[in-house]
Amino acid sequence: MRSVTILGATGSVGTSTLDLVERAPDQFRVRALTANCDVAGLAAAAIRTRAELAVVADESCLPALREALRGTNIGAAGGRQAVIDAAAGAAWTMAAIVGCAGLEPVMAAIAAGGTVVLANKEPLVSAGELVLAAAAASGATLLPADSEHNAIFQCLDRDRPERVRRIVLTGSGGPFRDWSTEAMRAVTPAQALAHPNWTMGAKISIDSATMFNKGLELIEAARLFPIAPDRIEIVIHKQSVVHSMVEYVDGSMLAQLGPSDMRVPIAHTLAWPDRLATPLPPLDLIALRRLDFEAPDPGRFPALRLARAALDAGGARPAILNAANEVAVAAFLAGWIGFLDIAAIVADILERYDPPAPRTLDAVLAVDAEARRLAEERLKDCMA
Ligand code: NDP
Repeated sequence: MRSVTILGATGSVGTSTLDLVERAPDQFRVRALTANCDVAGLAAAAIRTRAELAVVADESCLPALREALRGTNIGAAGGRQAVIDAAAGAAWTMAAIVGCAGLEPVMAAIAAGGTVVLANKEPLVSAGELVLAAAAASGATLLPADSEHNAIFQCLDRDRPERVRRIVLTGSGGPFRDWSTEAMRAVTPAQALAHPNWTMGAKISIDSATMFNKGLELIEAARLFPIAPDRIEIVIHKQSVVHSMVEYVDGSMLAQLGPSDMRVPIAHTLAWPDRLATPLPPLDLIALRRLDFEAPDPGRFPALRLARAALDAGGARPAILNAANEVAVAAFLAGWIGFLDIAAIVADILERYDPPAPRTLDAVLAVDAEARRLAEERLKDCMA
């Protein structure tokens, strides 16, 4: 029996992980489940899985959680520090909190050793070097759950990275792949949330629409794999069937294909280096008939250019890009700013704020907080 903790258990990745864990009760024992404040979802999952502990990050939701768990022997806790404490101690931990809010829990899980599965990409973007150094120090195994990075992980010969010519990171292009900039100006949150291929949480859905998601993934890939950033290429592939590819110096290209369902990469990380059966129907290649690939357009999707520049410059740039984007996405979802304002705000904060490279976790959190403050101030220009 392997002990499992799911950070962000009530979200899209969290519930996909629970689905797999619950199908194999003889293999997995749930240690802790966390959420922000979805008490009903968290308590139901904790009761179903007989979890040891359920934790809400928002402390004001703790009384409701206690009430929902009354009569069970499941522990309840609340607050930011309680989530960090709960992150340590399982043999296998899914990091599926959204945003940089997941950074401290991820660091706690890594410090405790074991296997830490990263769906939550923002910590890798904002504090990639610290995350990797912490894993090297504790001996934790980091596995990527993001479908593209999981595909690369499956195709990459990690013993001979010098034999890799390039990594091809595929992206669906999101719902506005073929739209003009002018047409995107009037996009509503509901339109941007409607991803053509994937069902995901709100933040990553908007990131997919702006293509900040692909930009964050570019940085994530450069952190996770020992391949120079200029050898990581983004290609638009609207069917989301080829999840990414690795090309070797001899011209061989290895690709991982699968349905657009996060349970495939999550199952890979749950069983690695073994395999775990999923309930998904096999990929029907005949019905699919064709796979399309095209070049991305950084003119219409400036997020790609901003992320590439932040990766190349390094230092605090990726953390600033991420923090400003988180603020802008939340403002767009709230209806305060337009769709095109998201990239404009991120570009502006990157222009105005250029601190030295953060070398500690506290320094990263300080850069993150200041970039958020500046972005929140900048929102007022768009709302006027
Ligand atoms: P969701 O919005 O669906 O879920 C987010 C989870 O995090 C929920 O459990 C939520 O709790 C919790 N949470 C939110 N804010 C906080 C906070 N401040 N502190 C602690 N917990 C919090 O997100 P997704 O599942 O879509 O994405 C999670 C991460 O995985 C993201 O980083 C995303 O980029 C990445 N990812 C997602 C994919 C997908 O298919 N969805 C694919 C690849 C990567 P509550 O429910 O109470 O709000």
